[in-house]
Amino acid sequence: MQHNAVTGIARVRARRSLGKELALQSGDALLVVDMQRDFLPGGSCAVPRADEIIAPINDYLAAFDERELPIFLSRDWHPAGHLSFKRYGGNLPAHCVQETSGAEWAEDLQIPSSARVISKASERDQSAYSVFDGTPLHVILKTAHVQRLFVAGVAIEYGIHGSVLSARDHGLDVVVLLDAVRGVNRERGDESRALREMMECGATFFEPKHGPMTHARVVPGSRRVIHPIERYGFGIQLTLPFAEAVARVVQALQDEGFGVVSDIDVAATLGSKLGVHVWPYRILGACDPTLAHRAIEAQPSIGMLLPCNVVVRQDERAVVHIEAMDPGVLSKLTEQTEIAKIAREVRRRLRKAIHRI
Ligand code: ZN
Repeated sequence: MQHNAVTGIARVRARRSLGKELALQSGDALLVVDMQRDFLPGGSCAVPRADEIIAPINDYLAAFDERELPIFLSRDWHPAGHLSFKRYGGNLPAHCVQETSGAEWAEDLQIPSSARVISKASERDQSAYSVFDGTPLHVILKTAHVQRLFVAGVAIEYGIHGSVLSARDHGLDVVVLLDAVRGVNRERGDESRALREMMECGATFFEPKHGPMTHARVVPGSRRVIHPIERYGFGIQLTLPFAEAVARVVQALQDEGFGVVSDIDVAATLGSKLGVHVWPYRILGACDPTLAHRAIEAQPSIGMLLPCNVVVRQDERAVVHIEAMDPGVLSKLTEQTEIAKIAREVRRRLRKAIHRI
């Protein structure tokens, strides 16, 4: 009994500090996606380890409820004979059929009385990965002046991915609560691809053990000063959606006379080959054909060090790093004065391009 009381107090404290860490304020809302029995282990469409996120979701529910911030719970609410079921041409077992036990909330989910339920895909021929599809959610959020949506639940590649992308399309800031989402990972790398796409469209991720990092708002110009990276590069840091950062880098390089001759999606490659999760990471090969020609004329083997790689990567705080190889390194690797001359010119223009971004 006493033990329960003590853990109860500890939990209340933990929830208080969680609200603080999230810097919850008016304009924030919580969306819990599809925490229904059929999506939990033992259910017909089980998401592996989805039971592990019930406790963290309860903490988030309590933290939002305590501050009287809006809470939404979405549910799959299918009629019998829904198009996503195998028997009716879909690729899933029957799940979350209206008024059946499989459609009920996960048993230990502690739903505050203020929570609003959003039912989706409730028509036979209506399918919805996004909670925004065919529901009044967007209108409700707008009426409630919600600006920032925190998202938890299942499954990362489906309901979470779809809803996060729609929320961003609607201009909302989005924070994905990483300790409170789970994916199916049917194909290796599915989950990390979905997370990467969410990040690329400007969503932020929050994980309590990393401390506060909930700055979903996109503020340009966080660190425009070019700083050295080890002895082989230089770069800047920005806060903007990843896809936009890549587009801006390509444009800035073009404006300075560089073409992008190669583009390696490191995160996608490692995700599909190893099944590991890597934040968005691209290596762009920048090349000025005239200068490359001059360099090869001077030293045919110089191709080993071409093109100049520019890395665009995003870290877990959603900060984008733009980092270029310093062509000055080339002059340290060769005695050729012509190469040194070209390297200086490339260096000057690469720095100019990075300044432009
Ligand atoms: Zn469904």
